[in-house]
Amino acid sequence: MDALDRILAQESFGLDDLETLLSLEDPDERARLHAAAYRVKLREVGPVVHLRGLIEITNVCARDCLYCGIRQGNDALDRYEVDEDEVVAAARWAWDQGFGSAVLQGGERCDARFVDYIERILQRMQGFAEGGLGVTLSLGEQSEDTLRRWRRAGAQRYLLRIETTNRDLFAAIHADDQDFDERLACLRLLRACGYQVGTGVMIGLPGQTPADLARDVLFMRDQDVDMVGMGPFIPHEDTPMADSLGDFDRVRGEQLERGLMMIACVRLVLRDVNIASTTALQALAPDGRERGLRAGANILMPNLTDTRFRAGYQLYDGKPGLAEDSEASTRALQRSVVAIGETIGYHQLGTSPRYLRRRG
Ligand code: SF4
Repeated sequence: MDALDRILAQESFGLDDLETLLSLEDPDERARLHAAAYRVKLREVGPVVHLRGLIEITNVCARDCLYCGIRQGNDALDRYEVDEDEVVAAARWAWDQGFGSAVLQGGERCDARFVDYIERILQRMQGFAEGGLGVTLSLGEQSEDTLRRWRRAGAQRYLLRIETTNRDLFAAIHADDQDFDERLACLRLLRACGYQVGTGVMIGLPGQTPADLARDVLFMRDQDVDMVGMGPFIPHEDTPMADSLGDFDRVRGEQLERGLMMIACVRLVLRDVNIASTTALQALAPDGRERGLRAGANILMPNLTDTRFRAGYQLYDGKPGLAEDSEASTRALQRSVVAIGETIGYHQLGTSPRYLRRRG
């Protein structure tokens, strides 16, 4: 048994262990890490992938995160907000397909009209699904009043990415009015409001070290999150961070590898949570999402946003599937799942085993 085997055989992992795992460079050693995480996934959540129908409801955002293609300061973008009826129809389509859950994602907006719009959509979704469609919101930091209203209207899950737990790095990639402690407070508020809580980080940021990522994994463990949604950093040309990694094609492969190693480490440490294999992985390699599943992820998010809006919702460059309609997106994901010998959990909420165990 070599040093890597000894680490992978452990039941719990410290900062040094994770830093070692996240620093692996040898392809065979990385494959052993993925395989160990995959075994944990099979044991804890089984060979079942759950689908979350992703609806990108608006690219209007009041924030100015330096890495993000839909930041308020990007004037090169036509802004949209999907009509309420269309959002409900897309969610209904997900329900009819047996997806079990949908995600409403958009820019961060706190205006009263937007809060009402989301509340009405949630109520209408409950009208046809009667609680049988799990709804995740990913709409940034919100007030307690808003979070409670949306929870009462039917949202069960909320994804709020911390992006990085290195405070200096957080400050470097956000605008001056964005505060790490406020993000953290909102994350804690989500649990108090009764949501299943998700968070995640950006992987491969300029200046980010394996030790930073190891701390990110331990942060997710300490926050006892139910869901993880994270992905490699891919620069967007209309942002201040466009050239922050130099020639991106030179680091593309390594960004993918880092993303996969993080999925594997989160699976090893958090074990029974839901982990998304995100589109950013597919943007880096055609089989990126499948590789994410093989590294320990168990959630896929077919994009249900109408194709006429998709070009306007690019958080990073090279996002795949811009012209692919919902049916084509879904068929592609189904093929991905079958190709790795797993099945899709249709007509299941896909609640994370961790949440169910905590609730008892
Ligand atoms: S990351 Fe989120 S909050 Fe930041 S600019 Fe993009 S959509 Fe807005």
